[in-house]
Amino acid sequence: MFGWNGKLLRVDLTKGRAVADEYSAETAKNYLGGRGFAVKILWDALKAGIDPLSPDNRLIFAAGPLTAFPVPSSGKLIVAAKSPLTWGYGDGNIGTVAAVQMRRAGYDAVVVEGKAKNPIVLLIRDESVDFLDAGDLWGLGSFETERRLAQLYGHGAGVLCIGQAGENLVKYAVVVSQEGRAGGRPGMGAVMGSKNLKAVVFIGSNELSAAYPKEIKELGSDALREVLTRPNYAFWKRQGTMSTIEWSQENSVLPTRNYSEGVFRKAGAIGGFAMEKMKVSNRGCPQCNMTCGNVVKDSYRKESELDYENVAMLGSNIGLGNLKSVAALNRFADDYGLDAISLGNVLGFAMEASEKGLIDERVPWGGFKMAKNLIRDIAYRQGHLGSLLADGVYSASMEIGENSSHWAMHVKGLEVSAYDCHTTPAMALAYGTCSVGAHHKDAWVVSWEVKAGRKGYSAEKVEKVIELQRIRGGVFECLTVCRFP
Ligand code: SF4
Repeated sequence: MFGWNGKLLRVDLTKGRAVADEYSAETAKNYLGGRGFAVKILWDALKAGIDPLSPDNRLIFAAGPLTAFPVPSSGKLIVAAKSPLTWGYGDGNIGTVAAVQMRRAGYDAVVVEGKAKNPIVLLIRDESVDFLDAGDLWGLGSFETERRLAQLYGHGAGVLCIGQAGENLVKYAVVVSQEGRAGGRPGMGAVMGSKNLKAVVFIGSNELSAAYPKEIKELGSDALREVLTRPNYAFWKRQGTMSTIEWSQENSVLPTRNYSEGVFRKAGAIGGFAMEKMKVSNRGCPQCNMTCGNVVKDSYRKESELDYENVAMLGSNIGLGNLKSVAALNRFADDYGLDAISLGNVLGFAMEASEKGLIDERVPWGGFKMAKNLIRDIAYRQGHLGSLLADGVYSASMEIGENSSHWAMHVKGLEVSAYDCHTTPAMALAYGTCSVGAHHKDAWVVSWEVKAGRKGYSAEKVEKVIELQRIRGGVFECLTVCRFP
């Protein structure tokens, strides 16, 4: 089989056993990889009603058929499981060298079931699989965990790990790689923690075989060259997705104070041009020549990787207009292994609840110190408010009552991402019908809608949402390639 390895690695942590499992060419063609594989595996394996945090759940890492070939922006994998946040299908993609190393180790996907007796690291080095004690790593943040594993296995090794949030089963904990590459918004980090799996390390040495190796190389080179000729290339390299702050502000879709408004008075202070003044370098996914991770120094002079979603959610959505402080909150989120979108959403919810006098704690809009302390409390599930918010905004609103569900911003339990849709009904439809909950990734229809006209629904808008969901949520998530090129 060309393009695919034709092999999955099935790991049972309860039994401490790993078995390579072959799959057919027909399965590869029908499901492609990434999300397609994950859905198929979960559908076949899970009994209805299982607890997502029980050993019965499966945690899946699945790459696409282009990963590890010289094709632009294909260095990604999907992490998927039944979600503890929504109790439905959950996934997210991560741009990481672990995707490339997994494919080079000979596997298109790894499927983890069961629960290890004690915390472990799974070391997958070509055919060999080791279950290593992770007692000394448990309790560490994702940055230190990865640093120690890189010391042991080299900086080229692919590492996927969790921070304290995943260990403490925070329901929007993510899987982290390369200090800031994070994925699995609907609690994939919590599923990993529930299995006592601190990290997975991939080291691969095999070359993948293509049916037309010369042609794929040429196509990849042509595509990389074409990226460089685009008129907005230089600006993209300067700002990546951060210019969306200004765009969202101009179009009144920048989530502000728990989505109560779409315009933020201090947007300029947290926008792309403000970020440029603080920027120290670019980071990105493997195989990408338009890297978009903006690395800045935060208010503690430590590095933090910024993009639009995390700045909007930890900035305007909580009323914080100081980019260095936003960058610090973002770094805490990445290190603890918390999804920055859901985190900004629950913090905004807590601030609104405090303003309305529905909780005892005082959580002021834009209050950096309180936000910082709350993030720590959420990651460790400590204190009344930390524990309450660790289960997500839907659960918190059910607990608080008093009509707070009216401004608890989620769909299916997954917190809304960073586009306010009071004036963009097609974007609201995209959130409402996204397979994993309120995520922008399946149908980012908002920019089309602003141009096409915002007023009301129409058959054209519905068709556009469906088209984008099929292209972005369907093809891109199965191929595990980035949409930006
Ligand atoms: S454009 Fe950004 S997200 Fe896409 S592959 Fe490049 S670095 Fe990754």
